Amino acid sequence: MGVPKRKTSKMRLRTRKAANRWHAPQLNKCGQCGSTVPSHTVCPSCGYYKGRQVLSVGA
Ligand SMILES: [Zn+2]
Repeated sequence: MGVPKRKTSKMRLRTRKAANRWHAPQLNKCGQCGSTVPSHTVCPSCGYYKGRQVLSVGA
């Protein structure tokens, strides 16, 4: 049976766990209307994504 040769140090364990830590989605500014929008998300206020209209937003 495979057995670890050395005990995992606290620092190594914490560093590994820190890599899986949850963090809030990156917020960007919409290139069309300038509102704050999470990355890889269609702008909810103007319906633009990657410089073109992909959603028809009322008004
Ligand atoms: Zn927008």
